[in-house]
Amino acid sequence: MSKTGVRKKTEYKQVIINNETYRVGDNVKINEYNDDCVYAQILNFWQDGCKPDAYARVKWYFKPSDIFKEIPEFISVAELMSSNVEQSISVQCIYDKIKVMTLEEYHEKDEVSDDIMFSRSIYDNGMKVLRPHLSQWTRVCICESILNPDLCYIGCEQCLKFFHQECIKLTEDREYICDECLSS
Ligand SMILES: [Zn+2]
Ligand SMILES: [Zn+2]
Repeated sequence: MSKTGVRKKTEYKQVIINNETYRVGDNVKINEYNDDCVYAQILNFWQDGCKPDAYARVKWYFKPSDIFKEIPEFISVAELMSSNVEQSISVQCIYDKIKVMTLEEYHEKDEVSDDIMFSRSIYDNGMKVLRPHLSQWTRVCICESILNPDLCYIGCEQCLKFFHQECIKLTEDREYICDECLSS
């Protein structure tokens, strides 16, 4: 180390791990010791002076199980919470890419695979709160429950809002127009 305390730190925009190119901004799966995988977004790659190890600065995604003791029924299997928690990890822990969409993008998709996730909130780990608060999450149906994109909804032909089949008591397979649209 020099007397000024400035160490040569080299930053990279991309690295190749197991023949796959990872870039700044990519969302990735990261191996944990217990085989469980965690998710993060890459902020940069860096290497310290003459040391051989390369690191990735990442911003973690929280999983619903990190936040809720009991997972609420509106939480999707593909749900991640963005966060403000950053950490440097060895690039060797990175092993796959994922795609993180908005809730709307995810809900519009007809087919999803398990490398497609979405985020509709940010977890503030200092304050231990979700932003936006659950009270502000997109709600659907006359029962005003929080949208879970894993569930099957009936869409109103006119306003395109979503309804639970049970709530609107729609028994036959036909086009649906909601009460609000019918009365206006
Ligand atoms: Zn409902
Ligand atoms: Zn309607």
